[in-house]
Amino acid sequence: MDWNQWSAVAGLSSAALALAAVGIALQAHRTEHRRSRFETARSLLHELTAGESAVARNYVARLHYGSSNSGTSPDLSTTAQADLYFAAYYMMLWSFERVEAGRTSLIAGGRADGGDAVIQYLDERLAWHVAEYACAIPQARARLGAAASEGRVKDRDSAAGFLRLLSALQDRGMVDRTFLPDACPGGGVCPCECHQ
Ligand SMILES: [Zn+2]
Ligand SMILES: [Zn+2]
Repeated sequence: MDWNQWSAVAGLSSAALALAAVGIALQAHRTEHRRSRFETARSLLHELTAGESAVARNYVARLHYGSSNSGTSPDLSTTAQADLYFAAYYMMLWSFERVEAGRTSLIAGGRADGGDAVIQYLDERLAWHVAEYACAIPQARARLGAAASEGRVKDRDSAAGFLRLLSALQDRGMVDRTFLPDACPGGGVCPCECHQ
């Protein structure tokens, strides 16, 4: 080979090396991207179950199950007591709002073909929480409404994130369609345990 041919081969191999380096970098980037998306999904699940949410869940559970056989009735007799239940109720709605916002941003950064393992992981773990609250929210709202000075709870905006999440998981077949948006369909129809 003459000098020109050698230089063509050398040019080719350095181009191939550069391409391989780009390939490795892309792969590393994808792995890192996937890892950080999984971490986001885990932190969204944590948001619903740990810290302040864990405390709020106990209050909302009393509002939800208070009239069932196994439940403890919530004490809404004083303003100070009722305020704790109101705060817990809104805290749960806002938690769901943050989870829904996080899920939406994960979807935007994911695969367009629907085969998104991160969303699958998140939705499978979210489903029972969403099913539980599909009944808990209207039940809690009814109890709080009875204790509220205006006779109702103003939560239309606060509940919007939860309702989007409910509808998304119902569309994916992960939450029972019997749950109505923003209303409990009632005992005998609603699959929630509180009616048993
Ligand atoms: Zn129900
Ligand atoms: Zn229920």
